Amino acid sequence: AKKIFKNPKIAVIAGDGIGKEVMPEGVRALEAANRKFGIGMQFDHFDFASCDYYLKHGKMMPDDWFDTLMKYDAIFFGAVGMPDILPDHVSLWGSLIQFRRGFDQYVNLRPVRLLPGVPCPLANRKPGDIDFFVVRENTEGEYSSVGGKMFPDTDREFVIQESIFTRQGVDRILQYAFDLAQSRPKKHLTSATKSNGIAITMPYWDERVEAMSKKFADVRTDKYHIDILAAHFVMNPDRFDVVVASNLFGDILSDLGPACTGTIAVAPSGSINPEGKFPSLFEPVHGSAPDIYGKMIANPIGQIWSGAMMLDHLGYPEAGNAIFSAIEKVLAVGPGHAPLTPDLGGTAKTDDLGKAIAAAI
Ligand code: ATP
Ligand code: MG
Repeated sequence: AKKIFKNPKIAVIAGDGIGKEVMPEGVRALEAANRKFGIGMQFDHFDFASCDYYLKHGKMMPDDWFDTLMKYDAIFFGAVGMPDILPDHVSLWGSLIQFRRGFDQYVNLRPVRLLPGVPCPLANRKPGDIDFFVVRENTEGEYSSVGGKMFPDTDREFVIQESIFTRQGVDRILQYAFDLAQSRPKKHLTSATKSNGIAITMPYWDERVEAMSKKFADVRTDKYHIDILAAHFVMNPDRFDVVVASNLFGDILSDLGPACTGTIAVAPSGSINPEGKFPSLFEPVHGSAPDIYGKMIANPIGQIWSGAMMLDHLGYPEAGNAIFSAIEKVLAVGPGHAPLTPDLGGTAKTDDLGKAIAAAI
């Protein structure tokens, strides 16, 4: 059974750029759900994990960030990065990567769902046709720093980088993905592999999937090599329910999925510690979008939907669904009638759309 967080405490971090514009709308929707469902959720706002904080303090976060955030059940995050002022690797490594590692957020979860009124780059698809999750392993695999260079600047020069797949690391992401698949009507899990080319780690991954599938007899399990799997995302996205992948493959699929539904601005994500031992983090897929910051034209749906995911994680699925249904309801009204932002073909401002969704909740 899933843990229910009583009177959940939320750390709100808007961050940089349009994070500061969409965050108030994310909180507005959460507050509407909070009232309607009597959740007793409390919010505290923080200015760190932003480039503004860096400019004032010479670092992205205070030294006691870990203890500060450990007092919260979840982190509701906007976006980070002001590339003109600070290189992205500094801002990212000083904030989100620290959270991911410090709070052992080993699941990266991204819904891939086609919404009404959102232009879809794939032909002949309607809402309901595409509805699945990408579950990415977030802590090990191909993204290790183990390796090195030898004989630099000679003709014998070479580099090696190792991939690391631990039984514990693989099994816990598979366990999460199978649990998720089992909770859904289709009960279907697809594993991303490449055991025909990567001859040690990927057969091991397949072996662990096989072992885990024995514990989930009611979940239909299949696997595809990553190359053809990516092709199916574009050609046959209706084929999927829950897709589980290693860090690298999951990284690619979790951008490809939302792109297939045309939802870069509306897509949400969760970096999750499923046991709730540490706070999980929920944020839109998009970045700080410096090109549109300051005009109040950013679409707040990615932020609002991330809030819905957070409620689901905290043990309030009805409240999460109420937010998601409100998004769908407003989008279905269509341009000319619903207050849609320019990326959706309207002329409304960020807060006009946010208020309409909050009202629909
Ligand atoms: P990252 O830091 O993740 O690499 P970025 O900050 O450079 O990304 P994104 O935020 O991902 O850029 O934005 C990519 C493009 O999509 C930009 O041109 C941006 O204007 C647009 N975009 C992103 N988010 C939104 C949004 N919420 N509403 C409208 N347009 C958006
Ligand atoms: Mg950026």
